Amino acid sequence: MIPLEASLAARVRVVLLDVDGVMTDGGLYFSESGGTAADGRRFHVHDGMAIHMLRRAGIPAAVVSGKLSLPARRRAEELRITEVHQVSPFGKLEAVEGILGRLGAGWDEAAFLADDLADLPVLREVGLPAAVANAVPEVRQAAAWVGAKPGGAGAVREFVEALLSARGEWETLVQQYVAECVEHWRAGAGD
Ligand SMILES: [Mg+2]
Repeated sequence: MIPLEASLAARVRVVLLDVDGVMTDGGLYFSESGGTAADGRRFHVHDGMAIHMLRRAGIPAAVVSGKLSLPARRRAEELRITEVHQVSPFGKLEAVEGILGRLGAGWDEAAFLADDLADLPVLREVGLPAAVANAVPEVRQAAAWVGAKPGGAGAVREFVEALLSARGEWETLVQQYVAECVEHWRAGAGD
């Protein structure tokens, strides 16, 4: 795991995620008939658990995308992400400003995992700018942390694990999660 600076991780109160190229591999699936353009996406199951762990740590995730597909909306809904925003590249700063306002958080308390040029304006404002392994050079350069995994291959999981590990919370969260699963099973079995 690529370590994340503890001082940067400690102040994070919200994790902002781009979709295409971060939660997905950037591939756009065009079907032969019907539907709107680019109507298919592939997500990594490991990223779902990462969002769950973030919630357990009391850190909400928010989605800010320049091209929010129906599959992306469905995925966000499944992961119980309530802040889901589709904006043009020119509207990303404004969208994030709104999210931070509703959460009562400052720019320095936001992390953003990004991959492409449209993310740069927000990346330059947040306290913890982060990039997936295959982000474009400009984004990698602007990031305080660059992962080893490309978008769609568990990059969100890698970032969240680095973030929560740097805060000293990851191991405890995993132990609590496993303990709760066992407790649930025992309660159900009537032991
Ligand atoms: Mg992207």
